[in-house]
Amino acid sequence: MNALAATNRNFQLAARILGLDSKLHKSLLIPFREIKVECTVPRDDGSFVSYIGFRIQHDNARGPMKGGIRYHPEVDPDEVNALAQLMTWKTAVANLPYGGAKGGIGCNPRELTVSELERVTRVFTQKIHDLIGIHRDVPAPDMGTNSQTMAWILDEYSKFHGYSPAVVTGKPIELGGSLGREAATGLGVVFATEFLLDEYGMSIANMKFAIQGFGNVGSWAASFIHQKGGKVVAVSDITGAVKNPNGIDIPALLKHKEKAYSLKDFEGGDAMDLNDVLVHECDVLIPCALGGVLNKENAADVKAKFIIEAANHPTDPEADEILSRKGVIILPDIYANSGGVTVSYFEWVQNIQGFMWEEEKVNYELKRYMKRAFSDIKAMCHTHNCNLRMGAFALGVNKVARATVLRGWEA
Ligand code: GLU
Repeated sequence: MNALAATNRNFQLAARILGLDSKLHKSLLIPFREIKVECTVPRDDGSFVSYIGFRIQHDNARGPMKGGIRYHPEVDPDEVNALAQLMTWKTAVANLPYGGAKGGIGCNPRELTVSELERVTRVFTQKIHDLIGIHRDVPAPDMGTNSQTMAWILDEYSKFHGYSPAVVTGKPIELGGSLGREAATGLGVVFATEFLLDEYGMSIANMKFAIQGFGNVGSWAASFIHQKGGKVVAVSDITGAVKNPNGIDIPALLKHKEKAYSLKDFEGGDAMDLNDVLVHECDVLIPCALGGVLNKENAADVKAKFIIEAANHPTDPEADEILSRKGVIILPDIYANSGGVTVSYFEWVQNIQGFMWEEEKVNYELKRYMKRAFSDIKAMCHTHNCNLRMGAFALGVNKVARATVLRGWEA
């Protein structure tokens, strides 16, 4: 099932639980605005390359739309649409005064030089600058983009509108970025894991973790788990996979990756097949990369008792059913990875206040937001007798539905 069909299905199940009326149902499902632009730029050798850039603004009932911009060869409108919708529910679950959006360019950033990436980013910004803005739509990094990408967007946007640091989040600290933003998604994943395990009288120390994806999210999550005494027994990224039943030395693995640009040939563990990380022997599985990685082909073989969805929509609905029949507890993406957008919100607040917070304050507030969202989801699960995914969807959809009704229907 493709990402959009899967996301729509979860929305529909939540709408049914909530007894949403059909007018609201339609209005919440259809995106507010879909933008598709051509981005043609010269390559360094003088030839030209053309990409299609997307920004899908899903909903703004609760505030400015918010969400990342992804550079990845598999970016397509359906996927961006699904990811934009997930942002709407995610910001509502996290109780941030935002709606949801997502953008992307179907390019492979690994095949472009830094100056080519800069040109693509600037052309994309020129095409969408009128439709984003501090109180309209605030982009952030996602897969294949980073703080430098945000700096280029900020610079290009500012040529049209004057210097406006709050127009993007996930910026370099020197340009108004927030302390703690880079680690925030990974740290939020670990807070969420602690809250969940605590429900079962368990804690991170001595539990076995398998982590799929070792980019910004996976590497920070692995580092915090390692610090808290958890055993990371398997890690993978697109370059390779490594396992060690006694726990991988994560700081050593990070050093290795920095030097070798790969997980291959790491001496502190044995190499393994990339795809086997998802079905490796462990207590907690944390997918931190692309969507749809848990599907009907591999779900029955998953050994973990808990899955923490650090990626967006890593589990497709068929896998969801197989896993729930096996009794696997899944902490859904729209809660588990909300630490990133939560600290994005803190960054935006700091920019608007013109006042910078200490990192301790950022992390303290992040934990507080994540704790409250977890209690709110549990309350929904209790009221509607449903699993965590439906509890989180019902929580998010209900808040957006309430805001939509309160703002009124008259044209
Ligand atoms: N790209 C991240 C996400 O999927 C962060 C979005 C943001 O900070 O706006 O949640």
